[in-house]
Amino acid sequence: MKWVYIEDLAGYQDQDVEIRGWVHNTRSGGRIRFIIIRDGTGFAQATIFSKDENDPLFKTFDRLTQETSLIIRGRVREDKRAPGGYEISVAEIEIIQVAVDYPITPKEHSTPFLMEHRHLWLRSRKQHAVLQVRAEVVRAIRGFFDDRGFRLMDTPILTPSACEGTTTLFETKYFDQAAYLSQSGQLYNEATAAAFGKVYCFGPAFRAEKSKTRRHLIEFWMVEPEVAFATLEDTIELGQDLILFILERVLTKRRADLAELERDPSRLESITKPFPRLTYDEAVPRLQEKGSAIKYGEDFGAPEETIMSDLYSSPVCITHFPAGIKAFYMQPDAARPDLALGVDVLAPEGYGEIIGGGQRIHDPALLERRIKEHNLPPEPYQWYIDLRKYGSVPHSGFGLGVERVVAWICGIKHIRETIPFPRLLYRIYP
Ligand code: ATP
Ligand code: MN
Repeated sequence: MKWVYIEDLAGYQDQDVEIRGWVHNTRSGGRIRFIIIRDGTGFAQATIFSKDENDPLFKTFDRLTQETSLIIRGRVREDKRAPGGYEISVAEIEIIQVAVDYPITPKEHSTPFLMEHRHLWLRSRKQHAVLQVRAEVVRAIRGFFDDRGFRLMDTPILTPSACEGTTTLFETKYFDQAAYLSQSGQLYNEATAAAFGKVYCFGPAFRAEKSKTRRHLIEFWMVEPEVAFATLEDTIELGQDLILFILERVLTKRRADLAELERDPSRLESITKPFPRLTYDEAVPRLQEKGSAIKYGEDFGAPEETIMSDLYSSPVCITHFPAGIKAFYMQPDAARPDLALGVDVLAPEGYGEIIGGGQRIHDPALLERRIKEHNLPPEPYQWYIDLRKYGSVPHSGFGLGVERVVAWICGIKHIRETIPFPRLLYRIYP
């Protein structure tokens, strides 16, 4: 008998198949027994029908507990009432292991309890749906860049110096030297962009975020494209296209998961290009009108991002920040050198910044001056300054955080559920 996956059942109507999985739930009534089986790709209903109450299948059914591993053999039948549209009419059950006292029961559990059992919590319907969406988002991102001729460049995780701020750096030992876990692959990608034109890196980023928010993880995944000769405008265009591509993919491929999460897809479907745009100068008075205490020259905090994103039903781009609150490498605006050619894209519904990026300084003298102004040691940046000496060109890029995008798409309040094993301020187990 052929072993098939639940997500492929539609192709096996009226055929005998084998499903290998785990018992999610059981129900019985009269002459009928239901097993909700999950096999990793989905959940399906398997039914046993018998007029004989001593039917051996009923006896086997009675041994099934939540998370018992088993193989079910039977015929695939179309059934409009069954979740997924198909069910298995059971002919044979082979128990692999009876699970005893599975800790996550169908009753409500506290979040700390669930986090402590994250290794098992992953099996629940909602967590499964979120991580299916995550896998699709990651696949969409790779496809988007690969199809546009971007070259994947893996940047190092162990780095000799801080890329941006030092306050959130994880220090580790590198033999007899200090090393830091990467917070971003950007600086390295500026080098690969000069070698390959358009590149992206996609990997984990580590930030010792000391404040507890629902938008920050200690370890998260970021995709960072970098394009030689691209301007701020080009990078905004690229960011918009990427977001729209991700949305379209998830909306076509993972609709059932969005439904499981009770996420209204119309909120995502209505998003189109171009996203609303404001400069920092335009945004500050609007924020103040809405009750924010922000003063001109200050960076947006979580409350500002929330107010801003509540004004629109689509992601919104904020550009031209005061140079002083942005990273040392940001290209100043030619007309207003006090402003940086940077962009933050804020997700709607209060999900915060999902993209941060902009145009990088390409003038070597200016870059060296900025490094000094930011009190950064010049030695570790020699290679980075080199890039401005040998055929320097304007270039731009951005970083998009996978978990915030997944949280937004799924409508999940806290980012901790968007990665299989979140690293949080007070949690590194399991
Ligand atoms: P924030 O102000 O929200 O802390 P940031 O300005 O530090 O964000 P960037 O350095 O621009 O963020 O990083 C690019 C993207 O990476 C962000 O837009 C966001 O999507 C994501 N990101 C940044 N920090 C985290 C984090 N701690 N956890 C999850 N995602 C993050
Ligand atoms: Mn940050």
